[in-house]
Amino acid sequence: MSENDNTTPGKDIGRTRGSAYRSHMPTTTPSVAIIGAGFGGLGAAIELERNGIDSYTIFDRGPGVGGVWRDNTYPGAACDVPSPTYSYSFELESEWSARFGSQAEIKAYLERCAEKYGILSKARFNTEIVAARFDEPTGRWEVEVDGGEKFWFDALICATGQLSRPKIPDLDGLNTFAGDHFHSARWDHSVDLRGKKVAVVGSGASAVQLVPAIVDEVSELHVIQRSPNWVGNKWNHKSNRQVKWLMRNVPSLARLQHNVEWVWYETRVPIIFNQFDPLRGGFHEWLKFKIRREIKDPELRKAVTPNYKVGCNRVLLSNDWYPALDRDHTTVHANAVTKVTPAGLVLDDGTEVEADVIIWCTGFTATEYLAPIDITGRDGRKLHTEWKSGPEAYLGIAVSGYPNLFMIYGPNTGSLTNTIIFLLEKQARYARQAIQRIAQNGGWIDVRQDVQDQFNAEIQRKLAGTVFTSGCPGWYHTDDGKVVAVWPGSHVAYARATGKVDFDSFEHGRPDRARV
Ligand code: NAP
Repeated sequence: MSENDNTTPGKDIGRTRGSAYRSHMPTTTPSVAIIGAGFGGLGAAIELERNGIDSYTIFDRGPGVGGVWRDNTYPGAACDVPSPTYSYSFELESEWSARFGSQAEIKAYLERCAEKYGILSKARFNTEIVAARFDEPTGRWEVEVDGGEKFWFDALICATGQLSRPKIPDLDGLNTFAGDHFHSARWDHSVDLRGKKVAVVGSGASAVQLVPAIVDEVSELHVIQRSPNWVGNKWNHKSNRQVKWLMRNVPSLARLQHNVEWVWYETRVPIIFNQFDPLRGGFHEWLKFKIRREIKDPELRKAVTPNYKVGCNRVLLSNDWYPALDRDHTTVHANAVTKVTPAGLVLDDGTEVEADVIIWCTGFTATEYLAPIDITGRDGRKLHTEWKSGPEAYLGIAVSGYPNLFMIYGPNTGSLTNTIIFLLEKQARYARQAIQRIAQNGGWIDVRQDVQDQFNAEIQRKLAGTVFTSGCPGWYHTDDGKVVAVWPGSHVAYARATGKVDFDSFEHGRPDRARV
């Protein structure tokens, strides 16, 4: 514990300059808790550092930085967005082994960034935040970690990610299975798959990478595909020595590569809008052609062809997924799982699938934003109660009733057409501007409810004209069908909307009790 550690409202662990101060006075160093040390949290910490704010503490329940890139160690784990844009724009990397970096490379990249920007000395790993409560009299947040310890901060940046809590369906008999079973995001490296009968449940982004990576090892592979996904080619050219040398020694080349990839991806935005149906139609035919070219079995071709619009779900990228499904020892079951038995799985058509190992590629609790942190705002408001029928925020960053709380990768900010890292940087910039304002004026800011409501009405109006509301499987919507995960527009539009904090959209408050 540092000497700044304290559990009384007057002090905090993030403030590194100055002595205890009265909270009605302008503060020069607001203390900030950043929750999560993945791409989002680390990016927010770096944004603060680069702007001279070093009074933050970054918490992560895991043992180091990296978030999903630390946790997903399954065979074949890699990015499906080109690494020149799936990296911080201010920290471009010349050493990617290929256009799409592997999990190990991305994790190492994030560790290097944390080291370079001096984040590690302000990080508390293996520390899970379980609750945060806004204390109106002092205008500060009381943050509780697992085990009961409490700290005080002027502001919170919640960067807990959408895909950090694995979801295994709550099936009958789950605990009766006699073999090994685990989620793809919690890979059990002690289990040897060689010569085993393996069942992979799910056919999303993780399964598409994992199945080709294990197909040669196993004796039988069963892929349980409740809904097929559209899968495109992964143009994953490798970087040779000469290219790497050039990238390293001509810095503007890495910038050029970043910009070209970014602009290329941004041109994909129209495919999410219904008015561009003809354009999407061409893409659709191209993806169907890929299925015909890579799969010989007509029944299998039919089974893997989605019946929903291209783009309403993530278009996956793989050159070896379909060939892996078409192998003699692979069986694709176009079914859902209904039950687990000691011997394997029972599917919704009654088929019993025998397995030695079950791998759950069944996704994450993606729409439960910020869970399981118990967040209490002004007047005792509970965020999770208010979000019961779907989370809402302003710009995906601020929530009315929860002052000085800023989210990274909040509701309706998922990136389907370009790189999420761009959006995370814009959110960090926004939070940093707000924190600078708090530093100047003291007190707190709270987005106005009418501003938030108007913003969300507009988001849902835009979504009505996109493929996301055309009825597709996946996790972008709540069980009631409200789309809460994706941003219905271009990345340029998001950058414009978040470029400068409009402080008139916020209520400004002063604590009514001075700190001691
Ligand atoms: P996912 O896309 O949510 O896929 C979950 C799969 O499990 C779906 O196929 C789902 O079917 C299936 N499923 C769920 N419950 C089932 C049941 N009871 N019986 C049968 N099937 C069931 O999960 P994911 O593949 O882990 O990917 C999650 C997200 O992580 C992706 O969307 C992506 O954003 C991210 N990701 C990114 C990368 C990258 O390269 N950047 C790599 C991996 C993952 P339904 O479709 O019918 O629900």
